[in-house]
Amino acid sequence: MRGVLVPFLVATVACALPPPRAAPRQDRPRYDVNVRVARPFRSVAGELGVTFTPNRPTDHLVFRLWPNGPSQLRAGSRLDVGGVTSAGRKLRVERPDPTTLIVPLGRTLAPRSHITVHTSWRLRLPSTHDDRIARFRDGLRLGTFLPLLAWDPRRGWLTDPPARILAESAATPAADFDLHVRTPPGLRAVATGAELGDGHFRAHAVRDLALAVGPFGVESAAEGGVTVRVAATQKLRQARVALALARHALAALASRYGPYAWRTYTLVIPPDLPGVGIEYPMLSFVGRGRFERLIIDHETAHQWFYSLVGNDQARDPWLDETLATWGQTRLGSQEFPPPQGVPRGADRHVGAPMSYWDHERRWYFYGVYGAGVKALHSLGNDAAVDCALRRYVARRAYSIAQPGDLLDELNRVIPGAERRLRAWGIHR
Ligand SMILES: [Zn+2]
Repeated sequence: MRGVLVPFLVATVACALPPPRAAPRQDRPRYDVNVRVARPFRSVAGELGVTFTPNRPTDHLVFRLWPNGPSQLRAGSRLDVGGVTSAGRKLRVERPDPTTLIVPLGRTLAPRSHITVHTSWRLRLPSTHDDRIARFRDGLRLGTFLPLLAWDPRRGWLTDPPARILAESAATPAADFDLHVRTPPGLRAVATGAELGDGHFRAHAVRDLALAVGPFGVESAAEGGVTVRVAATQKLRQARVALALARHALAALASRYGPYAWRTYTLVIPPDLPGVGIEYPMLSFVGRGRFERLIIDHETAHQWFYSLVGNDQARDPWLDETLATWGQTRLGSQEFPPPQGVPRGADRHVGAPMSYWDHERRWYFYGVYGAGVKALHSLGNDAAVDCALRRYVARRAYSIAQPGDLLDELNRVIPGAERRLRAWGIHR
């Protein structure tokens, strides 16, 4: 009896008293960004300054230029960066591949010292509509579109190769962004961050920025201290439905995994996006179609699993996609419909990196989203999984989490969880 009772009591106490949520690091990067948007939206340009404070010695900086990943480059995106300067002095740069910009500093930057660098940038926009950068009639939508520092305070610079399929590969530390957007008359900018007026946005402890510009109308409502907004170019009725769905998802997820971390949450319904969603900190793009509730539940769950608790999306894509899908199913949304003819072995690679899914692209969605949720269900106690997730969110808030961080919390509330998940290809 005692053998059952002690783990039960440990799990009960762990769930009743989750640890306090970690605060963002004081030494996080601080970005100042200008974006100039002009018709006919074939490109956007601006400047970027960033102050970086390492927590371990480094003699170079690494920026990732994700619009230059293989599928986006093929579709017509391209991010070009001008000269990089620091204190008015031009720095040498290296470009080992299209998504990587290395800035050797010629000296070692000691922990807790800082450097501020400036550059200009220009982004060419593709004419396709299924990825993270697109233009549409009288507007555009952008995400992961700027040079971003790829620093993980636990691992140093991250130089994972970009995925070759339509999926994210980025991992960036939580940072502060001060964003100024200049738009053509009559159009409205909607972006990650608090809107301060006149195209000025300020975002606190976020790992990326999203921006949409267009003839948007905005509906908003308060939900538990958070301003929830929906920006849409037409069809007021759809915006109202989306607003109600977003409020419900936000409240239900907060009650399971802890409070939403920011003061505003925005859904953008761009006119071009098919029935999919794309998540960014404080903002999700939502496509049109019959899976609207599922998409809103899924993308809103990413505000906990990706936005607040980050992960290396190239090495551990399951950490955010399995957990966002889990969150969506816990709200009562179905899983995404599985593809036809899934092979039995597809259940055994949940923890595989994007370099594996590049070669098994047909089963990527099933293997990471669907099989990941099946793996967590197989532990036999959905409420205990939620409890472990709440603890994981609290401990790893604002950081780049690793599989071992999640397994530690699962082991605490479900003894033997890590051993049982090995059969699904999940390892620390
Ligand atoms: Zn997702």
